[in-house]
Amino acid sequence: MKNFVEIYDKIKSAVPEHHFEFKDDPFWILITTILSQRTKDATTDAAARNLYNKYHDCYGLAGAKPEDVKEIIRYVGFSNVKSKRIIEVARLIMDKYNGSVPGKYDELTKIPGVGSKTANIVLTQGFKIPAIAVDTHVFRISNRIGLVHEKTPEKTEEALKKVIPEKYQIEFNPVFVEFGKSICRPVNPKCNICPVNKCCDYYSNVYLKKINEKNKIKASGTLGKKN
Ligand code: SF4
Repeated sequence: MKNFVEIYDKIKSAVPEHHFEFKDDPFWILITTILSQRTKDATTDAAARNLYNKYHDCYGLAGAKPEDVKEIIRYVGFSNVKSKRIIEVARLIMDKYNGSVPGKYDELTKIPGVGSKTANIVLTQGFKIPAIAVDTHVFRISNRIGLVHEKTPEKTEEALKKVIPEKYQIEFNPVFVEFGKSICRPVNPKCNICPVNKCCDYYSNVYLKKINEKNKIKASGTLGKKN
């Protein structure tokens, strides 16, 4: 079994600190996470900040007109669907939860549009409760390295629970997200400069093999040349 703490420490020291547009505010962390699906961080953060400046809290957003919200979040992916969704979420938080986002996984996942990842982001970042939030970066990196060997985010979450000590669970997602954006990118990961390449399955099973094949092709090309 890989040593998570050793790997995590190396990754953490190689990446910039993750920017959170909202800290310690479960409602806006929830809204930002819903907006973030299939949208770049900077676009999501700007849209969420503009919403916050106009509506302030769930009561304000619950009374917003969908067309106004859609205009504010127009650069976010699926803005039409998301504008209606976040108003619906704000109304639910207001009516069912007296204006406070629930701090329990089972309640959070009853909210429309809130799946496991979003619920776990709200728990970890909004309430500082240990949980495993598996987004595309966490899924890809954990399986590439070989911390887990799973085919779905759901199974990856279950497997990572056994690998990541609780005290790391709150901050590991933002660290892996930054690592996924800067080094372990979806396409063309920078394995040659990666601080954990010595203990990464992808590095030894895929990356090094590709390099060796390239070198062989180069060498055979050089040998075939007439002087
Ligand atoms: S060696 Fe490559 S695949 Fe492995 S963690 Fe580093 S960047 Fe990702």
